[in-house]
Amino acid sequence: MVSFSSIQFQPAAAATSPRTSVLLSHHHHHSDQLSLSSSPSPPQQLPPSRLHRRRLHCIRAIDAAQPYDYEAYLFNRFSPSSKLKIAVVGFGNFGQFLAKAFIRQGHTVFAHSRSNYHAVAQSLGAAFFPDPHDLCEQHPDVILLCTSVISTESVLRSLPLQRLRRNTLFVDVLSVKEFPKNIFLQILPHHFDILCTHPMFGPESGKLTWQNLPFVFDKVRIGNEDSRINRVEAFLDIFKKEGCAMVEMSCAEHDKYAAGSQFITHTMGRILEKLQLESTPINTKGYETLLNLVENTASDSFDLYYGLFMYNKNAMEQLERLDLAFEALKKELFGHLHEVLRKQLFGKSEEAGHRRPMLAKLPKNGTPPLLPSQSEAVANNNN
Ligand code: NAP
Repeated sequence: MVSFSSIQFQPAAAATSPRTSVLLSHHHHHSDQLSLSSSPSPPQQLPPSRLHRRRLHCIRAIDAAQPYDYEAYLFNRFSPSSKLKIAVVGFGNFGQFLAKAFIRQGHTVFAHSRSNYHAVAQSLGAAFFPDPHDLCEQHPDVILLCTSVISTESVLRSLPLQRLRRNTLFVDVLSVKEFPKNIFLQILPHHFDILCTHPMFGPESGKLTWQNLPFVFDKVRIGNEDSRINRVEAFLDIFKKEGCAMVEMSCAEHDKYAAGSQFITHTMGRILEKLQLESTPINTKGYETLLNLVENTASDSFDLYYGLFMYNKNAMEQLERLDLAFEALKKELFGHLHEVLRKQLFGKSEEAGHRRPMLAKLPKNGTPPLLPSQSEAVANNNN
């Protein structure tokens, strides 16, 4: 908080108020204790008569009537601003998408990337710094990592951390969470704050609005000074203001949920893309949904999808479950077909009730995979 001793008053404006003159005479005797002006320059040597005249025109009290709302002016001038200087590192598809919202909300955006985005940054109202040293010397409040998952570590290591302010806030928006959390904790000195986030939407799905779209965050390491707590809140406020559904959860929890939802979604989208589906004159609603899914996932880079697989330890299990589910479905189909054929071939001569078990239901998400013998037992129970 700024003390009043550092505030220079404007004598000319205030001396016209009648209330001021009353207060001036009241406080005149205490002028030494109450003086609010602490100009660092030595007192001027004025003749006593001029000194007396000048004192009469000085405001010595904070409760003196002001020609405008001086307290609000002081508050606005000296209270910490909620506007942030955000350095977006990785100014590709998603980095630019986020930067637009930051700028719309009045924050200052500095951009840095491997490629040259000078013109794009300029058109959005951001400043582009090809050299990370120049970027860090801007002393941003927040460094926001928007790089591909696979390049995160090398990009973070390329930043000259010593040029930043000591408690700069580091944020990431990677689609996996335990990995960047561990990299941050490994590489960043303890005096930097860490917030791991994942906006659960992208330039396609959040094109029109972010209203009710989930925003996941984990305050991994935040210093307990007010200014550091407020800075994190100011950053989170950006997403609150856009209407996001704010979800605070640990990075580990995020990765578990995301493998079972986001990774499956992207995988299905990419499988369908390989089928080269086309719109028909008789599209059902369901088919339209599939076409949309392909469009949504195809616009993301393969790096992004690969990151979801490689850097989330739960993704492999989901891929195996998908495989099992497809096999089980095929078995179910072929099993029915097999029965129809047998009936045609053998008619009633085949003993009723002696049916071969066909479908092994998958164990619930998160339970360990079944051994082949157990799987057969489940199948028998299910039939
Ligand atoms: P991306 O392919 O995951 O990342 C592209 C960004 O990474 C670009 O800024 C690119 O820089 C940078 N990059 C790639 N390889 C690099 C390398 N070797 N060295 C330095 N920089 C490198 O696509 P994205 O959609 O922009 O996603 C960025 C991050 O946001 C990812 O971590 C992703 O998981 C996360 N995210 C994306 C979405 C989404 O819908 N797109 C949603 C939520 C979170 P240049 O462009 O300069 O080459």
